[in-house]
Amino acid sequence: MADVPAECNIKVLCRFRPLNQSEIIRGDQFVPKFQGDDTVLVGGKSYVFDRVFPTNTTQEQVYNTCAKQIVKDVLCGYNGTIFAYGQTSSGKTHTMEGKLHDPHQMGIIPRIAEDIFNHIFAMDENLEFHIKVSYFEIYMDKIRDLLDVTKTNLSVHEDKNRVPYVKGCTERFVSSPDEVMDVIDEGKSNRHVAVTNMNEHSSRSHSIFLINIKQEHVETEQKLCGKLYLVDLAGSEKVSKTGAAGAVLDEAKNINKSLSALGNVISALAEGTKTHVPYRDSKMTRILQDSLGGNCRTTMFICCSPSSYNDAETKSTLMFGQRAK
Ligand code: ADP
Ligand code: MG
Repeated sequence: MADVPAECNIKVLCRFRPLNQSEIIRGDQFVPKFQGDDTVLVGGKSYVFDRVFPTNTTQEQVYNTCAKQIVKDVLCGYNGTIFAYGQTSSGKTHTMEGKLHDPHQMGIIPRIAEDIFNHIFAMDENLEFHIKVSYFEIYMDKIRDLLDVTKTNLSVHEDKNRVPYVKGCTERFVSSPDEVMDVIDEGKSNRHVAVTNMNEHSSRSHSIFLINIKQEHVETEQKLCGKLYLVDLAGSEKVSKTGAAGAVLDEAKNINKSLSALGNVISALAEGTKTHVPYRDSKMTRILQDSLGGNCRTTMFICCSPSSYNDAETKSTLMFGQRAK
């Protein structure tokens, strides 16, 4: 039987955050007009996605509509990737992490952690689970381990099955949602230590949280593996050609290159007919190779600001999302 066509497994969801305080004070307009649950109108043009989340959508609604099923699939042995794409302060981190220790405001990653263990506790007692997580970032094409600050330039290798992985990256075994949270807290504080301006840094690096689930039947010894990449991408904003120079310009070029490599992979997968998917064009797409497309569950969040001030960036973000459709 033929494989399920790849396009069935790529979902593109668009989320708009509310206007923030300074945008309201400045008198910015609220731009998007929402139509049904899959269309948004911006500047007279309509953009259709698998789902559009208006500004009042709760973290729980977002999770239930998009990530809950992926957790079930990963427990059935599928791989998956969830991304957040958008300009700085469009809501990527809010969507992926949210407020980690607040039950209402927590985002996708902590909810996934809870959900995985809830499923496991309800499953066959003869199944033994080994869950490990890694946390790293890619900055200027260098992979930095967020769980071991001494590892600042890791490389991508392939295992004996030709599956790419980050060689030497720390893996932590976890046995409860709280342990997952501890790992995230640890990684985030390491990230803070190494940089002078955390906000600027996080907007210029991709952060990747990997959950690896292995299960084994104690009697039959049958094994099943699934993994899930959770990716908070670098800000997609264009740096003005005149304003930036030196290091800032280098960073911008680098981000631009890695985000367009990702866009090219996703759109090749979405077309479904392409025999060549350019995974090898960036470190990130190489790492994600066996968790993107094919039978993998891929979800891309397109995060947008509603403010008229960000009009140009919002349009270019929406266009990026449309390429994956
Ligand atoms: P990014 O990671 O894209 O730079 P953030 O997720 O940090 O952006 O969001 C910027 C600010 O907007 C944060 O203070 C965040 O709490 C707030 N925010 C983002 N999305 C929402 C939302 N959907 N509802 C309420 N506040 C939001
Ligand atoms: Mg962020």
